[in-house]
Amino acid sequence: TATLLWMRRDLRLSDHPALGAAIARGGPVIPVFILDDLAETLGAAPKWRLGLSLEDLARRLEAMGSRLILRRGDATQTLRALVAETGAGAVYWSRAYDPDSVARDKAVKAALKQDGLDARSHEGHLMFEPWTVETGTGGFYRVYTPFWRAVKERGVPEPEPAPSHIPAPKDWPLSDALEDWRLAAAMDRGAAICRPYQRVGEDAAQGRLGWFTGHAIGAYDTARDLPAEDGTSGLSENLALGEISPRRCWHAGMRALHEGKPGAETWLKELVWREFAYHLAWHTPRIVNRNWREDWDAFPWNEDEDHPHVIAWKQGRTGIPFVDAAMREMYVTGRMHNRARMIVASYLTKHLLSHWRIGQKWFEECLTDWDPASNAMGWQWSAGSGPDATPYFRVFNPETQVQKFDPKSRYLDRWIAEGRRNPTDTALSYFDAIPRKWGLSADDIYPEPIVSVKDGRAKALAAYERRGF
Ligand code: FAD
Repeated sequence: TATLLWMRRDLRLSDHPALGAAIARGGPVIPVFILDDLAETLGAAPKWRLGLSLEDLARRLEAMGSRLILRRGDATQTLRALVAETGAGAVYWSRAYDPDSVARDKAVKAALKQDGLDARSHEGHLMFEPWTVETGTGGFYRVYTPFWRAVKERGVPEPEPAPSHIPAPKDWPLSDALEDWRLAAAMDRGAAICRPYQRVGEDAAQGRLGWFTGHAIGAYDTARDLPAEDGTSGLSENLALGEISPRRCWHAGMRALHEGKPGAETWLKELVWREFAYHLAWHTPRIVNRNWREDWDAFPWNEDEDHPHVIAWKQGRTGIPFVDAAMREMYVTGRMHNRARMIVASYLTKHLLSHWRIGQKWFEECLTDWDPASNAMGWQWSAGSGPDATPYFRVFNPETQVQKFDPKSRYLDRWIAEGRRNPTDTALSYFDAIPRKWGLSADDIYPEPIVSVKDGRAKALAAYERRGF
């Protein structure tokens, strides 16, 4: 009988254990993507980016004589319908670890097993399954460094090549047309501007990994902190959608390490931060939507999403240039440099005293590398409410950060147009990407700070002290 390969955040063909198992089972393999509630409710940018990935994957499958079947609806019902249509005897997928996906997958598995099917999840999205990394006393890790120590010497399997052939069924089930899903709908006119910044699909991701570990990784230790440089791998969106496997990245990083390239270990550690985020999401699912440290529930966060300060933050109009440059970079490119993410998160949660969930939600709307675990961990880390978080009283100063990490203002010039005699094309493109209803123009006067670096810091520290830590 046929095997349904239910694809989600594993949109690649190489190093894909579930695909390998489906082929090994014998019989035809039918790759399926389901636009279920979880995919349907993605933010504008990740949903659009998902569409690009599906388009690429479908093309690759077709070139091998296979197909990607697209269906919309509840996952269990859709898989059951496909089983009925194709006579499939098995459904395989790659495991997910965030609470919403886990809940869905549990229900799907139980239902399919009840039907007598071989319903099975496989590894592949992570290098280290969350339940396999245990502290000396058998618990999970709450602190990154010991987690890193626990996994760094573990062997990671070599990545498998893509199969040379995927057996096709005699008759294919019907598929929706990707265009009919209108995954770009919420991106409005921004999609055309954002498109050149995307590196879509498995080939592009592997090419970039090769370039990065071959040429750039040696300078990673310093370049990774400079937002105007192309000093990081830029692979987060590929990893988030599974266009490349973390194991492939790990081995490429390891080769660079063995060649003595200085930044390699730091980069491997970043890959393990991604694992740590999933470790936490698996063991403490509340990290995705509640203060990880419950004592933070008493903190006087401002939860008003429509507060003028929050709107200014989203629109890159806080009057704090580093913050504004970063927010605009995200709106135009779908990405934001890691240092910039820390700075805008610190400004929102400390200077503006707004709840980290507001920022988390906005990132979810705008990031093409949106990842449920890394985004939640990043926000709770920045806000101080998370495990192994930066202490709340460590308030980033966006002005000294500019001096340190963007001393020639290249990043600021790239993204801020107002008041510049010759604004850059990238800075101007922001005004073409944003919704007209924001009513912003490059000819506006650049705003005064809504909350100054100094006052914001003082207010944040006062609120923190009042809480009585
Ligand atoms: P590189 O520096 O080349 O690192 C390699 C890979 O390691 C990345 O692609 C990523 O998969 C992983 N990685 C690196 N840093 C981190 C980190 N701090 N946490 C977890 N994984 C990491 N990353 C996302 O992938 N999706 C998100 O939605 C996301 N939201 C964030 C929100 C906040 C507030 C913060 C502070 C960080 C967030 N990050 C998120 C982490 C980090 O900023 C990005 O992974 C990184 O900027 C991606 O750039 P890169 O691919 O060039 O990374």
